[in-house]
This record gives sequence, C-alpha cells and structure tokens, in this order.
Amino acid sequence: MAESYEVIVIGAGSFGCWTAYLLRRTGRSVALFDAYGAGNSRASSGGESRIIRMGYGASEIYTRWSKRSLTLWTDLLTQTKRPELFEQTGVLWTPPAGDPSAAHTRAAFEKYGVTFQNLTHSEIEARFPQIRFSSPREGIFEPESGVLLARRAVRAVVEEAVRNGVDYFRDAALASDGDALRTESNRVVRAGTFVYACGPWLPKIFPQVLEGRIRPTRQEVYFFGTPAGDRQFAPPLMPAWIDFTDERGAYSLPDLENRGFKLAFDRHGPEFDPDSGERVIAGIGEARAFLAERFPALADAPLVESRVCQYENTSSGDFLIDRHPEHANVWLVGGGSGHGFKHGPAVGEYVTAQIDGTVPAEPRFALATKSRQAQRAVY
Ligand SMILES: Cc1cc2nc3c(=O)[nH]c(=O)nc-3n(C[C@H](O)[C@H](O)[C@H](O)COP(=O)(O)OP(=O)(O)OC[C@H]3O[C@@H](n4cnc5c(N)ncnc54)[C@H](O)[C@@H]3O)c2cc1C
Repeated sequence: MAESYEVIVIGAGSFGCWTAYLLRRTGRSVALFDAYGAGNSRASSGGESRIIRMGYGASEIYTRWSKRSLTLWTDLLTQTKRPELFEQTGVLWTPPAGDPSAAHTRAAFEKYGVTFQNLTHSEIEARFPQIRFSSPREGIFEPESGVLLARRAVRAVVEEAVRNGVDYFRDAALASDGDALRTESNRVVRAGTFVYACGPWLPKIFPQVLEGRIRPTRQEVYFFGTPAGDRQFAPPLMPAWIDFTDERGAYSLPDLENRGFKLAFDRHGPEFDPDSGERVIAGIGEARAFLAERFPALADAPLVESRVCQYENTSSGDFLIDRHPEHANVWLVGGGSGHGFKHGPAVGEYVTAQIDGTVPAEPRFALATKSRQAQRAVY
C-alpha cells in the first residue's frame, strides 16, 4: 500500500524545509522530498552564506517578514545548538544622499521597531575606513542583522523537522496526479496537499503555468583572500554591506570562517539551467575593478573561491505563493528572486496559514500578479 501523508513538501531549500517543519508543528503528518538533498550545490539555498537584512524601501511586508524570520532562525539555531550558523555582523546600507528608498526604509524601521543607526558620510568614513566612496552617501546600519550560513542552516532545519516527525527522502518527485505522487525511484506516496517549493526548478515542473513567470538567471559570487593578519574585512570591523545605487547592485559579506571577503553583483545574469548548468565563473575583471574602486586595500587580493548560483526571478521580485490554477490541492511556493533565503520561516508560516485558511491571501504573492514581462520592483 502507498504511504500516505496529510502534506507532502517537494524541495528542501529554505522555503520547503521551513514549510515542512512548521506544518509538522501543527500536528500534521508531513513528508519532505529533495531530488539532490537539502542544501545541495545546485539549490539556490546551497550557498555558504546569505544576508538577513530588514531594509526593503517601501516594500514593508518584507521588513516585517525579515524581522519575524530572524527571530525564528535564531530560535531554531539556538534550540539545535547551532547558534554559530547566524553571524550577527550588522548590515550597512550606503545609498546616495537623499535617496527616497532610504527614507522609506527608515519609516518602515520606525513602524516595525527595527533597531538602526543613521550615519552621515563622514561618520561612514570614520567608522568603516576600508570602504571608499567617490560620491556623497548616507548610511543606515542594522546592528542586529547579519549573515546566515545558508546550506548548513537549511540542513539544521531539516534535521530538526525530522526530529519532530517529518519523513525526509532524497528522491525526485515526478508530477503529482490527484492525491498520488510518483518519484524517480518508483515510490508512490499519497497526500491531501502538495507543496512544490522547488525554487528555480518550478518552471521545469510546471512549464505551462510558470515558464517565463519564473526565470532562473546565472549569478557569480567571488571570495577574495584578505591580507595576512588583517582583520579589517572580518567582523566586527566589517559588516555585510549593500549598495543598490547603480545597476550593478554590488554587495559584500565580510570574511567569515576565514573563507575570504565575498563580493557579488545583484544585477540579473543570463538564463541558467539549475540541473545542467556548469558552475565555473566567466571572469573576475568587473569584480577586481570594483574592489579597486570601493575596497582599495583589496585591489590585488587573490580570488580564493568562487561560486555560480542562480536566482529564480519573478517579474517584480515578489514571491510566488499560490495554489496551482487547475489543482486546488497543489501549492506553488518560490520566486525567491535573489532575496528569499532569509524569509524561509515567514514563508513557512504563511503557507501553513494559507492551507489552514486563517489569513487572507496577499495579492503580491498571487500567480495572477506574476507577469512574463520583467519589471523589477523589489530589491
Ligand atoms: C548568489 C546568490 C546570493 C543570494 N543572496 C541572498 C541573500 O543574501 N539573502 C537572501 O535572503 N537571499 C539570497 N539569495 C536568494 C536565496 O538564496 C533564494 O531566494 C532561496 O534560497 C530560494 O530558496 P528555495 O527554497 O525557493 O529554492 P532552492 O533552495 O533552490 O530549493 C529548491 C529545492 O528543490 C529541490 N527540487 C527541485 N526539483 C525537485 C523535484 N522534482 N523533486 C524533489 N526535489 C526537487 C532542489 O534539489 C532544491 O534543493 C541569493 C541567491 C543567490 C543565487
């Protein structure tokens, strides 16, 4: 006889592992499947590190969700005796002076009680002399935010989910039909509800509904070696830093676990296949030029590691959390769009509440608001 669950979650990235864990906490029987294993190197959640920050300009819902998610992440990591998987580095924003998005961010911080500090250009220079700016900036510093050690944090959630009674399988789900799901290894499992949290794989699994609505793009990440004995690019001297001032969208993470100073650009790269895409970087010319401009002490720093990951972009950058238009028992959960990792806990709570029918659906997450025309609004 086929195994049977109340809910089957497919995909054990940040969205899926938290959804499975929180659904189980409501007393439901839950199975969690992942084709390549939780926190695998192809998954968007499979990177070493991800920033958790509260600043989202006028997109307040994400400020609220980040704040809630930070509490749930730190609670779970403390409970599982892995508190080191969140590093409270602080997060520094350096928008151009007078930037309207910075004003929205401050207003949201005040509204939701997020701790922050305002810095003038000269205060930024005095406090962070390792960063150089050629134009006037203002600073917003989030002292309680920081970095999650991503792939290990995901594994910690899955382990805790299993400890709480979730059945976890490393197996690929083929599409479900009615209440039955067949897997690559010919297992047949039944459930009342299916949650597909397959990140950049969603458009492959549901091409008719999602092709063009979720677009995986190739993103490069560089780790540069810092000078011997030099601690100015490690916490507590160096926070995570974000600068969406120009179209490159540069951001950096401090040297964590002595792996190097991480630099990346948030600008969307070319299309990418998460299964078959080779993960070799194309070059470091732009990154090196950027270091010379913004972090001159690292101008000649050697590249010590690199990664190629993918974003799974919706048109606006808003997540997709909605029922499949033809199968009411199938939920589509994804579209992290380069900023989703941190929100895993809030996504899990929202999916649980949607399945329970206890909160109204948020239009931003609806399939109907996901166009095939890219028009990015969330950063
Ligand atoms: C370079 C880079 C930097 C980023 N920086 C940040 C950041 O600083 N902060 C932040 O919050 N976010 C960041 N993000 C975004 C964030 O990582 C993603 O939005 C988030 O990890 C998406 O999680 P997910 O669970 O939706 O998808 P994934 O992590 O991709 O998980 C999907 C899972 O589904 C599994 N799967 C697929 N198909 C099947 C199948 N048929 N059967 C079973 N399993 C299947 C896969 O193996 C995978 O494990 C970044 C992303 C990248 C690439």
